[in-house]
Amino acid sequence: MRFAFVSGNPALDLVGTVESRGDEPADLLATPADLEQWVLECDELPDQATADIATFTSALRLREAIYQLALDRMRARRFAPASLAIVNNAAARPLPTVELSDAGVRLSGDLRCALAHVARSAITVLADHDACVKECGRPSCTRLYLDRSRGARRTWCGMEGCGNRVKAAAYRARRRAAGQGRGPKTNQASTTWEASSPE
Ligand SMILES: [Zn+2]
Repeated sequence: MRFAFVSGNPALDLVGTVESRGDEPADLLATPADLEQWVLECDELPDQATADIATFTSALRLREAIYQLALDRMRARRFAPASLAIVNNAAARPLPTVELSDAGVRLSGDLRCALAHVARSAITVLADHDACVKECGRPSCTRLYLDRSRGARRTWCGMEGCGNRVKAAAYRARRRAAGQGRGPKTNQASTTWEASSPE
């Protein structure tokens, strides 16, 4: 798996393909082939969707519209009309076909069908006022997730990606602080030498 599916919703997972939207954006969807791979890895979407430049561009537009609407939702303000139009138009398209067999569920459809499903998932989560949508607690990470934990206490998009890095940084900071309290060994040695040297 190249992509992370930690958000609990495919629309929020699509948003997470940009790991950071800060000064140094990190976009994992650089080419149509990247998008095909993301769709392949997403459990809720068809396996064989191919992306041309036009559908790739509309997928990126849909992704940023979902991100915008989620921010609006988290900040309790009105949805941006342009983003609403993008998501609603994508959701109005036909959905993937779902078939049951002994092997399980088979999904089929082209990329526009897949994006329609993603858009509908966005609408479902953004319309649900009981859904707790959050942005990751690591400052440089802009991944979103649905917090289903008890008491909504989840802080990170995914422990491996962010929680551990923040905890490791906090641990290093504590070690540094403790080290400064004792003073480095070389300084201790020179202090001893100064103390014993004649005035
Ligand atoms: Zn994160």
